[in-house]
Formats: sequence, C-alpha cells, structure tokens
Amino acid sequence: MASVLLVEDDPVVRAAVMRALTGQGHIVHGVALAIEALREVTVHEYDVVVLDLGLPDLDGGDALRMIRGVTNTPVVIATARDDEGEIVRLLNAGADDYLVKPFSSEHLGARLQAVLRRARDSKQLVIGGLEIDVTLRRAAVDGTELSLTHKEFELLSFLAARQGEVVPRAEILASLWPSHRDDQTLDVHLSWLRRKLGERAAQPRYLHTVRGVGVRLVAPQ
Ligand code: CA
Repeated sequence: MASVLLVEDDPVVRAAVMRALTGQGHIVHGVALAIEALREVTVHEYDVVVLDLGLPDLDGGDALRMIRGVTNTPVVIATARDDEGEIVRLLNAGADDYLVKPFSSEHLGARLQAVLRRARDSKQLVIGGLEIDVTLRRAAVDGTELSLTHKEFELLSFLAARQGEVVPRAEILASLWPSHRDDQTLDVHLSWLRRKLGERAAQPRYLHTVRGVGVRLVAPQ
C-alpha cells in the first residue's frame, strides 16, 4: 500500500485511475493542476506521484522540474504523447518511469510497484559494516547505532548514495549547504562524521578525501 498523488486534469480519467488504484489498496489523492501538485508535495510526503503531462496550467516538463526541486519522491509520467524524444528528455530530467495513454489499471499498478520497490531499495544502503536507512534516518556501524546531527546524516547518506565515486566538493556544498560559499563547513562536518565513524583523516576507513577534488565513501579494505 502506498500514498499516491495523481495529477490529472481530465476528471473522467482522474476518477477512473483513482478508483483503480484505490482498488489495488493504495491511498490516492487527486489534483487537476500542476500548481496544486507542487503545493501537495511541499506539504505532504507521498510515496509516488503520477503526473499527466498535458496539464492546463504548466507544461509537464516544467511541472516535473518544479516537483524535483522540492522532493525526491518517485514520479511516473503519464503521457498521451507517444514521443520518444520527449520521454527520454523527461527521464533525464528526473522522471522515474512513464506510461503512454491509454493504459490499463493493471499496467499502471505494476509500474507503480516496480518504482516503489526501487525507491525502497535505494533507501536502504549497506556499505561494508555501515548501514543507512534513509527513511528512518538511522545509521549504524558494525551494528552500533550512530548518533548523528541532521547535517551529518545528510552528508553521510549523500555520499553513501554514490558509494565508490569521488563526489566533487562543489557538488556536496551545492546540495547540502546551498547558501554557504565557505567550504570549511564541509571539512568541519567531515571531521565530525569521521570521529563518529571511528576513523581519522590520516587513516580513513570509509571516508576518503581526494585532495582538491572531493570525497569518496567506500567499504573499508
Ligand atoms: Ca491532461
């Protein structure tokens, strides 16, 4: 069972899809406008958004970008346009999947299940002895729960989501401290995080600083 935000301006289609998804055990909230959808995802946490591209107030691509600006909730595009270029563009812009109208309720249900499963898996990260549950905002090392501040948790899960990759400092700063231009903030948080992970910069286990480039989180050797 999932909470679904359905964005569809056609009242007949909206009612039919709501009925079908409710029948599949989901809790569905339906809105007709992109602007209402934006307000909804800002105020409530949905498990998935089903977004019609042909809305009267905003272009679907703009609606998607604005939703992505406030939440990582999976978005499934429902489009009448059987236009491969457009679909590829939207998948690149952050859509998680798409359906071309008309679709059956079974097809929509199956796509939603797949998207929800992927979202759930990506919320549980295991790297060596480090376990992170993004939904519950908990992290543990070798079975011992870490007591992390909000920002320490954000930093750890941000790096963990891209484990093995050197994440550029500028990218970390832009995502976690968008209003800061001072990258000492990052160093200070990294050193706090290291202490809680039980390691030192000189002898890293999980957190490896690549001088002048960025930070990489890996399983200890
Ligand atoms: Ca429409």
